[in-house]
Amino acid sequence: MYPKSIKKLVESFKYFPGIGEKTAERLAFSVLSMEKEQVDDLSESLIKAKKNIKRCKKCNNLSEEDICDICTDNGRNTDLLCVVEDPKTVFSIEKIGTYNGYYHVLNGLISSFNGINPEEIRLDKLIERVQNEKFKEVIIAVKQCIEGEMTALYINNILGDMKIKVTRIASGIPMGADMEYVDSLTLEKAFDNRKTIS
Ligand SMILES: [Zn+2]
Repeated sequence: MYPKSIKKLVESFKYFPGIGEKTAERLAFSVLSMEKEQVDDLSESLIKAKKNIKRCKKCNNLSEEDICDICTDNGRNTDLLCVVEDPKTVFSIEKIGTYNGYYHVLNGLISSFNGINPEEIRLDKLIERVQNEKFKEVIIAVKQCIEGEMTALYINNILGDMKIKVTRIASGIPMGADMEYVDSLTLEKAFDNRKTIS
């Protein structure tokens, strides 16, 4: 039987998705073998990240300020707005480094199955932005799944009347795959081959 503190540490590592008992134990023991400074640094990073990171008031991306670094970057292409379902996708797209427009981060996708309506995922804010800012193209980069289809169609329907081009990144991304797991090359190609929704 482990001492109480180790048991607690193992339980804490199990908060992470995909971490089971064995991995949690391995992580707990590696913490114990670290220098005290490293452990202090680790715990401080966890607390600081949670405390300092909030949602950008404009695009809903993760940010330390009220408005994020991407929204305040004047060097970006003001014609393009990319709609994603979560902040993780912004990081995946930024990692490729070829997309240079702005983002709008939804709070997930429309789901009739789970009763998630357009208002609940910040689509009203998207419409507001398209009305007030001067984008020429809205690129939808959400997961290829039923909810993704519904969300893309919904956006296309409303924005279609607003004289703006609405495109969806190309398939080639596996059905149901989380955007964060799609490799950079596939994602880059999907951007290049984006199509209008019909
Ligand atoms: Zn922002």
